[in-house]
Amino acid sequence: MSPKAMPHNAPTYTAPTQTGLTHNEELFARARLSIPGGVNSPVRAYGSVGGTPRFLVKAEGAYVTDSDGTEYLDFVSSWGPAILGHAHPIVVKAVQDAAANGLSFGASTPGETELAELVRARVVATDTDGVTLAPIEKIRLVSTGTEATMTAIRLARGFTGRDLLVKFAGHYHGHSDSLLAEAGSGLATLGLPASAGVTDATAAQTLVLPYNDLDAVRAAFAAHPGQIAAVITEAAAANMGVLAPDAGFNAALSALAKENGALFIIDEVLTGFRVHAAGWWGLETSGSGTATTPSYVPDLISYGKIIGGGLPLAALGGRADVMDFLAPLGPVYQAGTLSGNPVAVAAGIATLTLVDDAVYAHLDATAALLSAAVSAALTDAGVAHSVQHAGSLFSFVFGSYGPEGPRNYADMLRQESFRYRPFFHSLLAAGIALPPSVFEAWFVSAAHDAAALTRILDALPAAARAAAEAVPA
Ligand SMILES: *Cc1c(COP(=O)(O)O)cnc(C)c1O
Repeated sequence: MSPKAMPHNAPTYTAPTQTGLTHNEELFARARLSIPGGVNSPVRAYGSVGGTPRFLVKAEGAYVTDSDGTEYLDFVSSWGPAILGHAHPIVVKAVQDAAANGLSFGASTPGETELAELVRARVVATDTDGVTLAPIEKIRLVSTGTEATMTAIRLARGFTGRDLLVKFAGHYHGHSDSLLAEAGSGLATLGLPASAGVTDATAAQTLVLPYNDLDAVRAAFAAHPGQIAAVITEAAAANMGVLAPDAGFNAALSALAKENGALFIIDEVLTGFRVHAAGWWGLETSGSGTATTPSYVPDLISYGKIIGGGLPLAALGGRADVMDFLAPLGPVYQAGTLSGNPVAVAAGIATLTLVDDAVYAHLDATAALLSAAVSAALTDAGVAHSVQHAGSLFSFVFGSYGPEGPRNYADMLRQESFRYRPFFHSLLAAGIALPPSVFEAWFVSAAHDAAALTRILDALPAAARAAAEAVPA
C-alpha cells in the first residue's frame, strides 16, 4: 500500500480478548444471545458470504473501523446515506448544533419546511423539449423508507378507492406486508420467496410482475379492470443487484397507470439524490422528451437513505391533490412520533446542501473507473460476468448472459452467485468491505479518492482469481 493510501483515521490499539476469539467473533456470539441472529437487519449477518460480521466502531470518510481495530475501505456507505463520506464534518456539526437545541419536540419546527422546500426545488428537470417538470408539489417527512412506501400505497388505495397493487419481482420497497412479495436482496440472500406472517389475503392484493415487461402490466390491467390502485416500481432497481429499467419503461408505466385510473409511484429511497440531484427521475427526465423516451411525471415519489444524511428520515412527496388526501386534510391516516425529527432534519439539510453537481461528477467518474477495473480483473481471470449500471450505482452479475444482459429478477437469480463469497472475502482480507451479498449495489462516495481506489485496484487480481476458482456449494 502506498503511503497515500494510509488511512487518515488510523486504527486505535485494541487489547486482545481473553478467549482467543477476535473482538468481532466475541461480539457476534454475545449479540446472538440477545438479538435475533445477532443483527438488527438481516443482511448484516453475512449469511450469504459466511464468516463473522464486522462490528464497526468508527467511520470516517471512505473508511470504517471494526472492533478489532482493522480498517476497511467501505463500499456499503450505510447503504447510501454516506454519500459525502462518513462523518462529514459539516454534517456532524449541523447534527451537534441541532441536538444542543433539543432532540425531539413532537411539534412543528422551521427545519421541516426548509427541508421540504429544498427537496421541492431539487426535484425539477427540463426535458429535451424544454418542458420543465416538478413532481413534488407536497411532501411529508417520515422516519424510514418502509413508512414512505407503506404510506404511498395506503394513500393510493384511499385516493382511488381500489385495492390491488402492482409491483415487480425483485424490487424492494421496505418490509410492510403488501410489499414483501418477491422483494429482492434480503429475501434473495436468504433464498426466501416471501415472508411468513403475511396473510394470504394481503398477498393476494399484490400482483407481482416481471420487471421490464410492459405486456405483463397491460395484461394485469386488462384482467383487473377498475381494481388496480397503483403501480409501484423502484425508479431503477438496485436491490437485486443493479438493474436499470429499459429506456422508456418508467414513462410507459406512467402512461398505462394514467390510462387505467391508477397512480404511478416511483420508489427513490435508494436512487434518490444518489444518481442525480433530482434522483433517477431527474437523470431520466434530463435525457427524455423524445418520442422514443417520453418524459413522465410520477404521482408519488418516496425518498429515504440520503435524505436523512445518516439519521432516520425518509419522505413521501408528489401531486398536491393526492398528498392532501393525508390527515389532517384528508381521510388517509398517517402519523409519527419522531416524524420530521429536528436532528435528522438538520443532517438531511446539511447533506443535500453539500451534494452538488461536483459531487455527482465525482461519483460518476469513480463508479465508471472502478466498475471498469473490476470488470477487467474478472475478464483477465476468465470469469464471465455482466457489469450492471444505473447512474453511479453498479454491481456485477456472475455468469454468461446474452448481449441484452439480465433483464429481470429470474435472470438475476440464476447467476453464479457462489463466486461472490470468495471474491468478497479476498477483498475483505485486503481491507476492503463490499456489500455482504451479491444482490446489493456498490456505493461510492465523495470521499472515495485516488488513494482509496489504489487500495482496491491493487487487490482486484487476487479477488478475481478467487472468484474464478470458486465451485458451486
Ligand atoms: C432501503 C429501501 C427501502 C426501505 O427503506 P428503510 O429505511 O430501510 O425502511 C425502500 N425502498 C427501497 C428502494 C430501498 O432501497
